Formats: sequence, C-alpha cells, structure tokens
Amino acid sequence: MTIAIIGLGAMGLGIAQVFAQAGHPVLATDSSADMRASAPARLAANFAPRIAKGAMTEGEKDAILSRLTITGTIPDLAPATLVIEAVVERLDVKQSVFSQLEQRLAPDAVMATNTSSLSVTAIAAGLSRPDRLLGLHFFNPAPVMRLVELAPHGGTAPDALATARRLTEATGKTVIQCADRPGFIVNRCARPFYGEALALLEEGRTPAEIDAAMLAAGYRLGPFALIDLVGADINLAATESLASAMGNHPRYHVFDALRAQVAKGHLGRKAMKGFVFPA
Ligand code: NAD
Repeated sequence: MTIAIIGLGAMGLGIAQVFAQAGHPVLATDSSADMRASAPARLAANFAPRIAKGAMTEGEKDAILSRLTITGTIPDLAPATLVIEAVVERLDVKQSVFSQLEQRLAPDAVMATNTSSLSVTAIAAGLSRPDRLLGLHFFNPAPVMRLVELAPHGGTAPDALATARRLTEATGKTVIQCADRPGFIVNRCARPFYGEALALLEEGRTPAEIDAAMLAAGYRLGPFALIDLVGADINLAATESLASAMGNHPRYHVFDALRAQVAKGHLGRKAMKGFVFPA
C-alpha cells in the first residue's frame, strides 16, 4: 500500500523513512523545491551511522531509498492509501493542504495530520470529507521513537481509524488512541516537566545541573536536552498553543527563560546552540 507524506522537514522525512523501511512505496512532496531536492540525500545521511557500524548494508539502504518517490504537487499523491501531513504548524496551511488533497484520493483512503498542538476537529472543519481525517502524531525523531498518538475527531470514520492504526502498528510503532484535546497525552504531560525545569532555572540552577539530576533519577533525557532536541521554538509554540487552548491556566505558564532562548536564536540542535547543546 502506498503511503504519502506532505512536508519533508524534520518530521515528514522521518515518517517517510518509517514507512519506506517497513516496505511501503512512499510518495512525498514539499512546497519547497530545496526540501524536495535534498530529501533523498538527507534520508541517505540518516543511515550513515548504521552503515558505519555495520548494522546496515549499502544494498539495504538503497532498497529503502528506492521506495521513496519525491513528487512536485499534492495531486501526485492520489494513489496513496494513507497520506500524512507534516507541514508547518498553522491551521490555515494544514486546511489548505487537505482541501487540495481530499477530492483526489480513493474513497477509502485516510488523511492524517501530524499536528502537535492544533485541534484535529478544527482542521477537519471546512473539508468536504472530514470523516477521512484523523490525527497521527509521531514523535521526534520518528524512526527512533516508538510511540504514535492516534487522535480521531468526533466525525472520523471507524474504518479510517482502523486503517491508520493497522498500517502504523505494522511499522513496529506503539499506537495509543487519545482524545482530540490540546497536546493529546504526551505533550500535555510534558508541559509541567519542562515548566518546573524552567522554574528551577529562573531560581538559579543551571540546565546542566538539572539535566544531570534528572538523568541520574532515571529519565532518559533531561528537560533541557529534550528542548534542544525538539527545538526551543517548537517547544515555545507548543506551550503557547496549549496555554491558549487551556484558558491560560497557570500549569501552562510560558517562562521568560524559554522566550529569551528563542529570541537569541539558541534553538538547540538545529541552531547548533541551545541550553545544553553542544554538550
Ligand atoms: P519543519 O519546519 O522541519 O518542516 C515543515 C516542512 O513543511 C518544510 O519542509 C516546509 O517547506 C513544508 N511546507 C510548509 N508549507 C507547506 C505546504 N503548504 N505544502 C507542502 N509543504 C509545506 O517542521 P517539523 O518539525 O517537521 O514539523 C512538522 C509538523 O509536525 C508540525 O505540525 C509540527 O507541529 C509537528 N511535529 C513536530 C515535532 C518536532 O519535534 N519537530 C514533533 C511532532 C510533531
């Protein structure tokens, strides 16, 4: 079954990798010609450490790459059974993408959004086939992170939900269904984790101290290493979005230390400078 991906940034490329590795033909597009042109080389680069370690052969890499077809426009994605959108986190852009897509797909095809913080119900509003849409939230980096949150809205068709679950589970992911509520489960629970770390920072502890304590306490990544991995800008946008969706409840307080980090451009890995990156 053909899987399609819209948006070949950090998430879209990783999700394309997940399905190509699982043996699916993957069609993918991006509005940026540069992102389209660079996608095969960026994907190949993801495999370089595994090839260097002897955990993967050049032939295996080539087989995965051969399943990826980069296309120029959204209508080219028509043959897909499942289309996953991973474009910028903006309601108007996501709605426009799905409205260009919905009439082109087979009646039983499924449209999924990888949104972290927007309402799936709001994205579905205005579509002529809202029953085919659901949230399918992968985590960063998608090829590594096991969890995928599955978020139907009130009008998602049961067969669309079942297809999305089946295809995603078949890649080896753990699929957890959640309500279409801001932040789903993980981003909601993660807010106080980041928030208390930022509060401690404002009280005088350093990011390195806080991360060291949390690592020694058994967490796999400290809160600041996680902000650097995800991107301080993405983290700020997710916190602001949740704060606004939850009536500015104090649990979702947006700390000045996070805003300052974004203002300085210290976004983490992608800027090569963050709270603890490079450590
Ligand atoms: P990104 O900025 O790395 O990539 C977005 C891509 O979408 C870019 O390549 C851009 O050119 C492309 N794009 C923008 N508008 C488009 C359009 N109209 N049509 C086609 N392509 C378009 O962003 P990302 O970090 O990959 O995030 C993508 C989505 O995934 C967002 O909704 C984000 O909230 C969500 N998400 C991000 C993370 C994360 O940790 N970064 C984790 C989970 C979910």
